[in-house]
Amino acid sequence: MENLNAIFARVREEFPALTQKVHGKKLSYLDSGATTLKPRSVIDRITHFYSYETSNVHRGAHYLGDVATQGFEGARHSVAKFLNASSSDEIIFVRGTTEGVNLVAQTWGHVGLKAGDEILITEMEHHGNIVPWQMLAEQVGAKVVAAGILENGELDLEDFKKKLSSKTKIVAFTASSNVLGTNTDMKLLTRLAHDAGAKVLIDGAQIVSQISVDVQDIDCDFFVFSAHKLFGPFGFGAVFGKKALLEQMPPYQGGGSMIAKVTIEKTTYNDVPFRFEAGTPHVEGAVGLHAAIDFVHRIGFDKIHAYEMDLLKYATEKLLAIPDVKIYGMAANKGPIVSFNIKGAHHSDVGQILDQEGVAVRAGHHCTQPLMARLGVPGTVRASLSVYNNHDDIDALVKAVAKAREMLL
Ligand code: PMP
Repeated sequence: MENLNAIFARVREEFPALTQKVHGKKLSYLDSGATTLKPRSVIDRITHFYSYETSNVHRGAHYLGDVATQGFEGARHSVAKFLNASSSDEIIFVRGTTEGVNLVAQTWGHVGLKAGDEILITEMEHHGNIVPWQMLAEQVGAKVVAAGILENGELDLEDFKKKLSSKTKIVAFTASSNVLGTNTDMKLLTRLAHDAGAKVLIDGAQIVSQISVDVQDIDCDFFVFSAHKLFGPFGFGAVFGKKALLEQMPPYQGGGSMIAKVTIEKTTYNDVPFRFEAGTPHVEGAVGLHAAIDFVHRIGFDKIHAYEMDLLKYATEKLLAIPDVKIYGMAANKGPIVSFNIKGAHHSDVGQILDQEGVAVRAGHHCTQPLMARLGVPGTVRASLSVYNNHDDIDALVKAVAKAREMLL
């Protein structure tokens, strides 16, 4: 552990945001589930792009256009490798997880679903993996069904199997809950869905910073994630889709770049994946994501996982030692997230006191209102950990929670 602590102390130094104080206190940033801080290498890559490479892509007009295009397509190649997709053609660039789910719902959804069909999700989904399916269901006359969770926050596998039927045409589930921390068994759920004849979309928003993902091994049909939760820029993300499926899907939005030929009467469309990327893309988002992928690979997921699991264990034990603290989500396989409440205190009041102590957490429903209803609470306080956190951050959290308890109870 000594060795890991030394490695991650150096990683921490790569994050300029952590050099500042908030409310006169040292910043303990424990809100990485909402967005991760950005390392210097990602910030520098984006600055370099704007300083020296600014140009539109895919135009082939001049030298800088080629540089920008190479940066953009290089990023697609890097994402394909990152997810172990079989080719870059299987990677569509989008604004993030939410847009990725909407893209699949509004394209594949209209060829893959008809009235009477079902979409199976889980009770722990983020609104971004619920609402797009409800909108599709309303459009085609299908129904959204949700598999339940167990008391410890794990997916209720029996309920999942019970709700999976020949009516189910797509199963959309999170790889890692942004509230409970629960990591689902992506490979098993995918196999069960395929056995029932359904396609699979995985919400990868919270998993991509934790472990290395292999979409070919999982065999999922679609996988979506956001760059900003992986040390990359806002407003950018990717959809992986199996090429054979992407080729059957109608376009998402119309406009420049997604076309082969346009006449006033009719348009023919570009090949996959460009067919799904209308308009000028978020080029600096792509090169920033490429730098973020290089950043995590430089550290290595084996080390990241080991370090984050140590932090999670430390945080869980310390928080549970405070009287009246209740943790939501104690799954055996968990990401580095601890959601909790102080019994008798409102989550927002706790969050505010923590903020005054320089401890940045999220307090609220975390865009998971159905899960809050299932847990029977209006919200929770969520501490989410990442590579730049250390035991001092957790000690600051614990001290602030103990103080909040004294002030509020
Ligand atoms: N799913 C999960 C599990 C998430 O944690 C989030 C972000 N909180 C989203 C989906 C939505 O991601 P984005 O807002 O980047 O589109």
